[in-house]
Amino acid sequence: MILIILGPPGAGKGTQAQRLGEGLGIQHLSSGDLLRAERASGTPLGGQAAGFMDAGELVPDEIMIEVILARVRDSADSGILLDGFPRTVAQAESLDGALEAAARRLNGVLDLAVSRASIIERITGRRICPKCNSVYHTRFRKPRQDGVCDQDGEKLLQRPDDTETVIVSRLDNYDKQTKPLTEYYSRRGLLHSVNGDGEVNQVYERLVTVTRKLSGTRELSGGE
Ligand SMILES: [Zn+2]
Repeated sequence: MILIILGPPGAGKGTQAQRLGEGLGIQHLSSGDLLRAERASGTPLGGQAAGFMDAGELVPDEIMIEVILARVRDSADSGILLDGFPRTVAQAESLDGALEAAARRLNGVLDLAVSRASIIERITGRRICPKCNSVYHTRFRKPRQDGVCDQDGEKLLQRPDDTETVIVSRLDNYDKQTKPLTEYYSRRGLLHSVNGDGEVNQVYERLVTVTRKLSGTRELSGGE
């Protein structure tokens, strides 16, 4: 089974994708992790990717797709959950073509839908301890004493990027970039919107339900 997960910044996509991977026994492949792993393995492909990474350049789509296909070929029966690729319609088309050539297909795209208001609340409420890097939230994970780290009494800070202005602009960019991609998958009947509002566990259960429907196999029924 091959799945893609999409979601705006601040939607908790990384956390959910990791849990889905662990809970359902499918490999969670984030594009960054994939490239680092390929590079560390010392393959010719990894060497090519490393050249771009070291130059601070984006790794070209053809290399990224080769890296993903190598994993798809290795995955045999276990599933794959792609996170961070594709980001554009051109990448999606290349991936489709490559999967078809490898006699594999995409089973579905999980689109984590979270309201703007809750993303803004999640991010602007975040507070960090500059000493031990503990993360708090003014509403969801309050420290015992307002504005002070539980571990070491350090004064908590807000990251400069965790402001409403910055997050709204990031969300606008994400929407602009992702809309053609979601339309592309929607036309193919592959897009499954999953409500990402609410507790982490609730959202996880919703994702599991959709994923099981898509897999249609018993091998995934033994999750958590
Ligand atoms: Zn601390």
